[in-house]
Amino acid sequence: MAQTRFAPSPTGYLHVGGARIALFDLIWARKTGGKFTLRIEDTDQTRNSPTAAQQVMADLRWLGLQWDFGPEVGGPSEPYYQSQRRDIYDKYIRQLIEQGRAYYCFDTSEELEVMRQRATAEKKNFLYVRPAKFPTAADVEKARAEGRPVVARFCLSNDEIIVNDIIRGEVKFAGSDLSDFIIQKSDGFPTYHFACVVDDELMGVDCVIRGQEHLMNTPGHVMLQKALGFRTPIYAHLPVTMNQSGGKMSKRDRAKVLKEAIKAKPELDLGKLATIGGIAEADIKSFLKGDSTPDTPEVNAMAEFLGIELPEVNVVDFFRSGYLPEALINFIALLGYNPGFEKEILTIDELIASFDPARFNKTNSLFDRKKLLAFNTEHIKLLSEEKLLSRYKDFLKGTNSIAANADDKMLLRILKASAGARTLAEIEHKSRFIFTAGDKIAYDQKDVEKVLLKNNGEGLAMLAELKKHFAALETISEQAIETMLRAIAEEKHLGLGKVAQPLRVAISGTTISLPIFESVDILGIEETLKRIDGTILKFNPN
Ligand code: GLU
Repeated sequence: MAQTRFAPSPTGYLHVGGARIALFDLIWARKTGGKFTLRIEDTDQTRNSPTAAQQVMADLRWLGLQWDFGPEVGGPSEPYYQSQRRDIYDKYIRQLIEQGRAYYCFDTSEELEVMRQRATAEKKNFLYVRPAKFPTAADVEKARAEGRPVVARFCLSNDEIIVNDIIRGEVKFAGSDLSDFIIQKSDGFPTYHFACVVDDELMGVDCVIRGQEHLMNTPGHVMLQKALGFRTPIYAHLPVTMNQSGGKMSKRDRAKVLKEAIKAKPELDLGKLATIGGIAEADIKSFLKGDSTPDTPEVNAMAEFLGIELPEVNVVDFFRSGYLPEALINFIALLGYNPGFEKEILTIDELIASFDPARFNKTNSLFDRKKLLAFNTEHIKLLSEEKLLSRYKDFLKGTNSIAANADDKMLLRILKASAGARTLAEIEHKSRFIFTAGDKIAYDQKDVEKVLLKNNGEGLAMLAELKKHFAALETISEQAIETMLRAIAEEKHLGLGKVAQPLRVAISGTTISLPIFESVDILGIEETLKRIDGTILKFNPN
């Protein structure tokens, strides 16, 4: 029975790498009949955002990664926000101080900087020099009164520490290479290292899955466990996921694309862009210089204004781009994990049933966006009509689509006409014309040129011709429309495109819409005729 936990620091939106860890937490617990706990590691008062924990939970739920114990659901180890557990940490810090396994120190940041520089000059790693005699309670009081920062450090032993990692086997660390690290900060909050070790014990966690970047922290954690008389859990440090340009998948990837787009437009009014993003012009300037990075909502608003697409990195980015949670789960499950199947399209139940921790890979994995798109296409096909409708409605609402209030019957027709779509965003995009009033259609100038005006208005002439045929049509159905359009094409010895594309531009303003027969049928003949008239009038007023 594996008792797992996902322990995000709520500093922003849930990153897809975090989602991958939460996924394996859930899979491992479900496979073995254990429980999956969610713990919010919010002891860093400078970095936490109040809404981030809520957003992380919403993202986990959207993915279907419901925790058994944690915020909002409760459990035997409440509270699950570390910021509310300070009494517990204080008790253990006192215990270590009394045992002589921790000590207070009062160095200012300038003094620490000098120590670091000295180590660098001597080409050594910085190791904090433990005082021969630990400060007394009176020393601590005095230092506080002088306004010095008071922190507590853990006394590491010089023993060799062996970390047993499921993925890497035994990893050995020499205690003498590690520095006495801080367990309590000057604001009285515990550090991540300390709170994490205490909570893993008290919350009964015996299986810690986390990113490879934490491997260096683990020997310190194991020493703390020994000093406090705690168990040591099993560890699995998952290898990194790389983006296609060879770097680590990072939230900064989005900001980078935005920055390049801004720099490519020297004529851009930065003041206006700042207003769109809801930030000050000075913030944009500092962003362009590389001094700071705006947060996700601001980045999104600016990208939308610039008409650029940013690479998805956070779970919510994938939602907004029209990915299904089923597809994202399937895809991230295969990053650095080999399920041992021929087939790659898997449901979460299949992943749970077949899970074997021996199947994790040691090497970094590649975030192949083309593959994710292919997975999404497959999962759209696999979902039941009812489920797809519900996902689509969530998408429309979550992105404030013009179609958000459409009725189910209409949305089902659209979904039916969208066979083979790769994303929900694509479906929305191709069906937007249905919800746009005829006189508000935004015509794509290039398409108008190519399909309607070229060759002396060949397309417009076709529209005039189509009008007559539509007026004469007796029964209206997808089938009847198809038969009619094909007959016209045949009679005029033209490809179907020469007939269908002008019609498409007339009703939707572009050459990208749902299949034409369904499009006309959904819109209705009367509206179709109105749009044909409107288009002719607009581009051929004589
Ligand atoms: N709060 C840590 C993080 O978000 C958790 C690391 C761990 O799982 O121990 O990286």
